[in-house]
Amino acid sequence: MPAVFIGHGSPMNALENNRFTEAWHSFARSVPAPRAIVAVSAHWWINATAVTAMDAPRTIHDFFGFPEELSRFGYPAPGSPEVATMVVDALAPAWVGRDMDSWGLDHGTWSVLAHMWPDASVPVVQLSLDATKSPGEHMELGRRLDALRDEGILVVCSGNVVHNLSLIEWSAGESGRDWAVAFDAHVRGMMTSDPASLVDVAGHPAHGLSVPTPEHFDPLFYLAGIAAQSGSPAEVLVGGCVLGSLSMTSYVVG
Ligand code: ZN
Repeated sequence: MPAVFIGHGSPMNALENNRFTEAWHSFARSVPAPRAIVAVSAHWWINATAVTAMDAPRTIHDFFGFPEELSRFGYPAPGSPEVATMVVDALAPAWVGRDMDSWGLDHGTWSVLAHMWPDASVPVVQLSLDATKSPGEHMELGRRLDALRDEGILVVCSGNVVHNLSLIEWSAGESGRDWAVAFDAHVRGMMTSDPASLVDVAGHPAHGLSVPTPEHFDPLFYLAGIAAQSGSPAEVLVGGCVLGSLSMTSYVVG
């Protein structure tokens, strides 16, 4: 089973169709039917590693100021306590909490999966991002997730390589500021040649502007770990910056 990192952008992508969402849709049509999905979303950012382990995860609307239609959106994919246990075992000896009721599926997950499996037929568990972990520690967890691919499980990491909401330019359309484009290209070089080198990404001069907070970038460390563990660099699924300070670039490891 491949693994993927999706640049998810605005929650409105759940309802819209554009060249990015079309690439997500096409990707899903190209893979074997997954037994389940493990989603690593930027929007579950807590002080521990946890996995959702309930039978029926709720759809979480973790945003404000968007149309009512988005607040009513439901993605009723089943959970899988069994796959949650597989995640706990795969990540050992790292401790992973089993979340029974605090979380569910947030928009980092469902805005993407709504295009991949609109019928919500594939069971989904979410893995949290532990805010206390370093890039190297996140990448190590990603390495351990690689084994799940042999079990028919699709790992979907969801964030954004460049994510600076304070510098969004609504008139910029499908373009990025020079620093955003440069950082996106730098990351692309690392992911497509030597994914393990991503741990040193903070050395790039545009890192501070591109990654003002780590939560949207960190899911990429999980895909880089999977790529490093499997010995196959990532390929670009779809690339580009939008609104000046967002990268929508997505990667796949085959
Ligand atoms: Zn987001």
